[in-house]
Amino acid sequence: MSNKFEKEDIVVGISACLNGEKVRFDASNKPSNFCMHELGQHVTFKAYCPEVAVGLPVPRPTIRLIKDEQMIKVARPDGSGDVTEAIKAYGKKVASMSKNLSGYIFCAKSPSCGMERVKVYSPEGNPLQAHGIGVFSNEIMKANPLLPCEENGRLNDAVIRENFVARVYAYRRWQALEASGISKHKLMTFHAQYKYTLMSHNLVAYKTLGRLLARADLAVDEMAAQYILGLMTALKLKASRKNHANTLLHIQGYFSKHLNKVQRQELSEQIHAYRIGLMPLMVPLTLIKHYLLQHPESYIEQQAYLDPYPTALKLRYGY
Ligand code: SF4
Repeated sequence: MSNKFEKEDIVVGISACLNGEKVRFDASNKPSNFCMHELGQHVTFKAYCPEVAVGLPVPRPTIRLIKDEQMIKVARPDGSGDVTEAIKAYGKKVASMSKNLSGYIFCAKSPSCGMERVKVYSPEGNPLQAHGIGVFSNEIMKANPLLPCEENGRLNDAVIRENFVARVYAYRRWQALEASGISKHKLMTFHAQYKYTLMSHNLVAYKTLGRLLARADLAVDEMAAQYILGLMTALKLKASRKNHANTLLHIQGYFSKHLNKVQRQELSEQIHAYRIGLMPLMVPLTLIKHYLLQHPESYIEQQAYLDPYPTALKLRYGY
């Protein structure tokens, strides 16, 4: 499956402070090493700072989420300087102008940009049990529930990082498919290409989506809408070692007829070693790719699972 998107072909939204811009309340930044120096080699970031965009200065007094009766607002700790509506309106504007985004990386804990678990305070200044969502990020996520989103802190986790990048590339491929005009045949081909990826995340979802594409009562647009929602939801589930190992065994079964006994045993041992945590996913995958070069199998070669994103990101070395 083609993974050959140029850097400028994949646009990912990012909180401006993570991208090195000194726009935080104290005029500092919060540069993300992974975003700026690794992922940034392969995607184009579009940076937004909602607080600066609505006219707040740099530096500026801190603002926070305050729960006042049933309303959550963004304001200074004493309740003054309410910018809730301005940031919401800016979020809506960015969301409407950003249909070309293939992902978004938000700055954690921010009352504007935080994706989840943002601290919420009472009007008296006491932290509440309730956790909030940044007012800007909420608008972006509401406007496009399919958009892969993550926070900078969570991206330090190797599994979450890999999962996010895989979703960004899957979504970008989907956007390319949409742009080319969707047909039933293209949907079936896309699903076939995502077979092993889906298996590694959730076998039930693979089967459910297959049944969806077999329905004769759905118009293709409705089918496509349900399909991509199901796919992006399934890909959010973390792929476990057990599921990856089972997927690798399926792939091995596809071309094992070409392997001799020693080669089959070596591959089986590597898959088992991966399953029990003795080696990273990249090791059995590299051996599979090596055998595929010697014994090409077009059905396997077209699988997104083998090259979900640029190998240079080394995301499969970490788990
Ligand atoms: S977290 Fe968002 S609002 Fe705050 S400085 Fe960063 S980009 Fe601006």
